[in-house]
Amino acid sequence: MKNTIIRSGLETLYFSGLHHWMRPLVGGVGTILTLHHVRPPRASRFQPNRLLEISPAFFERLLRRLRRSRNDLITLDEMHQRMVSGNHKRRFVCVTFDDGYRDNLRWAYPLLKKYDVPFGLYIPTSFPDRLGDLWWVALEAVIARNTRIGLTIDGKDRFFECGTVREKRQLYAEVYGWLRSMKSESELRRVVRDLAARHGVDMEIVCEDECMSWEEISEMAADPLCTIGAHTVNHMMLKKLDTEQAVRAEMEMSRSVIEAALGRRPQHLAYPVGDPTSAGPREFRIAAELGFKTAVTTRPGVIFRAHREHLTALPRISVNGEFQSQRYMKVLMSGAATALWNGFKRVNAA
Ligand SMILES: [Zn+2]
Repeated sequence: MKNTIIRSGLETLYFSGLHHWMRPLVGGVGTILTLHHVRPPRASRFQPNRLLEISPAFFERLLRRLRRSRNDLITLDEMHQRMVSGNHKRRFVCVTFDDGYRDNLRWAYPLLKKYDVPFGLYIPTSFPDRLGDLWWVALEAVIARNTRIGLTIDGKDRFFECGTVREKRQLYAEVYGWLRSMKSESELRRVVRDLAARHGVDMEIVCEDECMSWEEISEMAADPLCTIGAHTVNHMMLKKLDTEQAVRAEMEMSRSVIEAALGRRPQHLAYPVGDPTSAGPREFRIAAELGFKTAVTTRPGVIFRAHREHLTALPRISVNGEFQSQRYMKVLMSGAATALWNGFKRVNAA
């Protein structure tokens, strides 16, 4: 339902030409794109995480169009340089990938090389260390592979039917919402680990199947097109951590581990999950104090000059698998849709 509303809003902005006219007002100085998986579509009708993946064919069309556009495709360092110096003669686009999925190497990287496009790759170090909890993937696997699941909620065992696609979708949405609303992330992790163990899903294998190893990451990192960024150690929603010290440790440790593994110290950071429930003013301040040049959220928006004062609270535009259309990308990158969503507020660092 929500997707239908967003889709018709984007269509309206496109076909009315409004996005085109609004652009000088709302287009800002550039855009940072967020990508996760790039891989051929799978057939299953139950794919609750589909928004996190786009097809290689769509990605190639996007890169080709960006190359022909009047945008400069630049590295995160170059973006930082432009922001600090205020040199915005041309609009920029930064392409970034979160989490370090193996399909990035297999499907996205050849296309990035073909079109000579610089990109950032934000790595949560527990993923290549094979200690990562990809809890949203594990939850999908548990519900996909079972027709009935058991969950302990407030100390009571409860059972849920999930035999049909409809039941699976509904159950995923409910459990996901419940997990995301938990106050503590360690509780979330405990619940999913328990669920996975009870229903035959090995979380270590999920991590190995989905994520690049350090060898694979270093293959990409060796390319001057690639900038490795930090994405914390354990991919926690930092805002939910009790102490400032814990937040600091997540950011600092990931930087040290990446430096030890790849020989280069990351200068850029992405907050895990990255929405306002996961990263707020405390996290923005700590990232700045730790000396990260830039840090990105998943709050939707384009970049304005005024972000110069908020370089550790940058918005991005998500390349969403539910909206794989060049029309939508044009509207999103024009800044028109996000200006409407954000009530024309340019900077949101609160
Ligand atoms: Zn992430």
